[in-house]
Formats: sequence, structure tokens, C-alpha cells
Amino acid sequence: MKKYNFGAGPSILPQEVMKATADACVEFGDTGLSLMEISHRTKDFQAVMDEAQALFKELLDIPEGYSVLFVGGGASLEFCMVPFNLLEKKAAYLNTGVWAKKAMKEAKLFGEVVEVASSADANYTFIPKDYEIPADADYFHITTNNTIYGTEIREDLDSPVTLVADMSSDIFSRKVDVSKYGLIYGGAQKNLSMAGVTFVIVKDEILGHVSRAIPTMLDYRTHVDKGSMFNTPPVVPIYCALQNLRWIKAQGGVEEMERRAKERAALLYAEIDRNPLFRGTAKAEDRSLMNICFVMNDEYKEHEAAFLAFAQGRGMQGIKGHRSVGGFRASCYNAMSVEGVKALIACMQDFEKEILK
Ligand SMILES: *Cc1c(COP(=O)(O)O)cnc(C)c1O
Repeated sequence: MKKYNFGAGPSILPQEVMKATADACVEFGDTGLSLMEISHRTKDFQAVMDEAQALFKELLDIPEGYSVLFVGGGASLEFCMVPFNLLEKKAAYLNTGVWAKKAMKEAKLFGEVVEVASSADANYTFIPKDYEIPADADYFHITTNNTIYGTEIREDLDSPVTLVADMSSDIFSRKVDVSKYGLIYGGAQKNLSMAGVTFVIVKDEILGHVSRAIPTMLDYRTHVDKGSMFNTPPVVPIYCALQNLRWIKAQGGVEEMERRAKERAALLYAEIDRNPLFRGTAKAEDRSLMNICFVMNDEYKEHEAAFLAFAQGRGMQGIKGHRSVGGFRASCYNAMSVEGVKALIACMQDFEKEILK
């Protein structure tokens, strides 16, 4: 049976991306060696790194003065690297969910943290909009897509101070005005590659302004200066990222990814809003195009487990909602086809007929 992977992460990747990566793990180009066993210092791997960084810049239209890094540690290590490198006295954070809170927790180890606004009281079902960013903060940190709650900031905010964004789960799903940000980071395993590599887009001029000593590996400057080759980088996930970046380009770039994301989300949210069994959990204006969260209406609540089993039986993988939201979450990253979304909608409609017959 055809399975559709709606998992929030590690998540769906295009078949050809996984196939090309698998092939390179057996034999990398015409080197006669596996990608896993070649030196990252060879010209063959250097070409992979160079092309991945160049495609990153091209696809996101990254201006001069920024570096693209591929490092280890996941987005979770960035939660501490960001304040380590940028927080001298005070940083501002927008609390839009668990990931934002985890980022704040790390920042508190380095200085004062101002929570400018929070939607915690409403279980993070919306993105706060009325807040002031302290003009004397070293930076302002946002999480553009809240993977667990299905809310998303789909515009590039104006900030009086350096804007830092965790874009783990929506990078390459829309055009981004990178010039508005000082730093953008994310774990690759949501919408870019397999797990194991973390991307960082950093404006060179924001570095070097804190007075503390920074351990070599945690210093962005190290990775900027060494082109992400200070130590052995995660070569297979970087190769996989390159294949995906090539795929995005061949499909028509981020504009096309954005068009598809809107198409998928419009179909699924329309069904959630129409189907009497279900309701969306995020405030309509803040709905994510990537992670679509919904529950069963109170009067049908007892059918949730049955619907999950019904949908799983028809090949819908990974649609169980995060435990803090419940219900269902259909993650629709770049590689999710509109057919997959239509298959899920058909499940919802067929289940509705069963229950309401
Ligand atoms: C998954 C996720 C993280 C954590 O990423 P790791 O690479 O596992 O550390 C952080 N932020 C957001 C928005 C996420 O979705």
C-alpha cells in the first residue's frame, strides 16, 4: 500500500533525493568509494559543500555579507550558540511554544531575557502581535513555524534590533527577505534533509561583539572562517541536503514550494472547516502551511482513536497530534504531494459518512 508520511520530523523527503543519497552511500560519483568513507577534504566533497552553500544562497536570494554554515548539534544546540555569540546583556524572545521556551531557557544562562509576549495561556494557539521589542536588546528571537501547535509567522517582521529566527520547520517553504534577519537557523530534518546537520545563515557583521570567550566549536566565527570544515562535517546529511536543494530548484524554486504549500493547506483546512467531525486548533489567521493541527469536535471526541486507526489503515503515517495538543497533525512539508493531502481528505470524508450515517 502507498504510504503518505505526514510525520512532523524527521519527515518526508522526495524519493529521488533519498535514492541519490543512498546511491552515494554505496559509491560516491566515480571515486570508487562510499560517501561515508571519503575524506571531507577531498575535492569531490568540497564540491558538494560549495554547491550546497551556493544553492542555499541562490534559492533564498541571500544578500552579500551573509555566510551559510552546516554544523552539527541540531536546532537545540543553536538555542545556546545564539546567546553564546550574541547576548551581551539582554535579549528579547517571543514565546510561541515549546521550542521558543527551550531557546529562552538557554539564553537565560548568558544574560537577561525579556519575554516580549506569550500565547502560553491559550496553549500557543495564536501568534501574539501586540508587543514592544526593547531597543536596547542585543537581538530579538522568533520561531517562525511552531511545529507542535501549527502556527506560523509567514512575514518577515520589522525589528529595531538584530532579528534571529528558528526556521527549522518552514525553511524553503516561502520566499524570505533574509536582509531583515541577522541570523536564521534550523535542524535539517523537517524540510531540508535527513537528521544530522543544522543550517545557519548568519550576517557576518553581527559576530564578534560579545566580551565573553567562546569555545572554538561553539563560535560561529570558526565555522564562517573554515567554511563549515573546521572539523569533520556531517557529510551524508549535507549531501542529502544538496540533493534536496537541487530538487527544489528543478521544481521551480521557493516560489513553487510556496505555491504548493498554499494549495495543500487550502485544501486541508477547507475540509477541516467543512467537516462537522473536526475543527482546527490554531487561530485561523495564524495557521501554519506546514503543520496542520486539528481535533475532533467535542461531540465526536470518542471517535478520535478510531479515526486514527482508520486513516493509518489507509496509509496515512504520522498524523497523531503532539501530546500537548492532542488530535491530529498533518505535516505537509515540501515533498508532500497534493495527492497525499487529497488521500487524507478522502479518509476524513469517508469516516464522516461512517459516523453520521
Ligand atoms: C524540531 C524543532 C527543533 C528541534 O530541532 P533539533 O534539530 O531536534 O534540535 C527546534 N525548533 C523547531 C521549530 C523545531 O520544529
